[in-house]
Amino acid sequence: QCTLVCRPGAITEVDEIPILLESLKNKKGKVFVAQTAPAIRVNLSEIFGFPVGTVTEGKLVASLKKIGFDYVFDTSFAADLTIAEEATEFVERVKKGGVFPMFTSCCPAWVNYVEKSNPQLIPNLSSCKSPMSMLGALIKTDFAKIKKIDPRSIVSVSIMPCTAKKDEARRSELSDESGQNTDIVISTRELARLIKSKKIDYKKIPDQKYDKLYAEYTGGGVIFGSSGGVMEAALRSAYQILTGNPLSQLDILPIRAGKDGIKFSEVHINGSTVKVAVCQGVANAKKLVEKIQKKDPSVADLKFVEVMACPGGCVNGGGSSKAKNAKAVQDRAGALYKLDSNLKQRVSLDNSELKELYRRSLKGFGSHEAHEILHTHFKSKK
Ligand code: SF4
Repeated sequence: QCTLVCRPGAITEVDEIPILLESLKNKKGKVFVAQTAPAIRVNLSEIFGFPVGTVTEGKLVASLKKIGFDYVFDTSFAADLTIAEEATEFVERVKKGGVFPMFTSCCPAWVNYVEKSNPQLIPNLSSCKSPMSMLGALIKTDFAKIKKIDPRSIVSVSIMPCTAKKDEARRSELSDESGQNTDIVISTRELARLIKSKKIDYKKIPDQKYDKLYAEYTGGGVIFGSSGGVMEAALRSAYQILTGNPLSQLDILPIRAGKDGIKFSEVHINGSTVKVAVCQGVANAKKLVEKIQKKDPSVADLKFVEVMACPGGCVNGGGSSKAKNAKAVQDRAGALYKLDSNLKQRVSLDNSELKELYRRSLKGFGSHEAHEILHTHFKSKK
């Protein structure tokens, strides 16, 4: 195994391709399931010579099938699921008087910082698992049950733009009797190397679709890959839960990716003003946290904060190809926002596969069943 140093932080990247190839070689009786993060459909395209901001999700799915995966699911579906649970959690805190501001918990580099350096913030973190870990848990439970597969024979592989996700997948909190929620994490760069080594012509391979069950995504799910996307998606859903109606303006432009390390916005819901912030980079999050802890009046009423460790979010993740410049990061994010604006369903709660999942097994947003599978806990590692 070779080890590389993660670009945005001091996280070690372990090349898991040898483990995957060895496992595929002895495939007998095993079912190989891949999931791909929202940002991969854009990040991978550049490596194979497409213009920056080209979406190639059909070629991504087709390449993974050719490598040997039996099923390929879209983590964007699970991003909708994370938003459904996170928006529900936020609304519960509003109604019952919980800890504020609530912080997102889908970026493992940010969670590592909180657990290791600022554990007093743990009650502020959302208890939601990340989209990768939610889908990993569903694959070993819901999917295994539907397909009548022993979960122990499933090899669950996540394709992520991120090196910190390898660390997340090994968390003891993200395992059950059938093993870890996610068995192997492959970064965008690793997948590109694997596709090349298998001599797959990425530019020419005919498109294939994600497998049903966890294939559909709304605009809220796919913008997860950009800084500000998690917050925008969460506000769309929280507004709908609290008012019963969609937000009249779904585009929340002040928090979309841009140069500012900390961005603020507010949304008016049922006569109250909900103030939110979006931080790119842990250093910016630290600055905001210091202000909150010093009770600086400028951040006194903040209710919800998104933190993504990579500048620009996962489209510029540490496991992706290096963006040539800031504009390239903007163009990658722009491709996801374009997908969002062209979709009929743009609010995560309206994902029809997600509604079917709740009918089938989760019983409702924030239910006991949903907490069992989709939520986790954090602990001080200071
Ligand atoms: Fe990983 Fe960076 Fe995305 Fe955080 S922002 S989840 S570190 S790629």
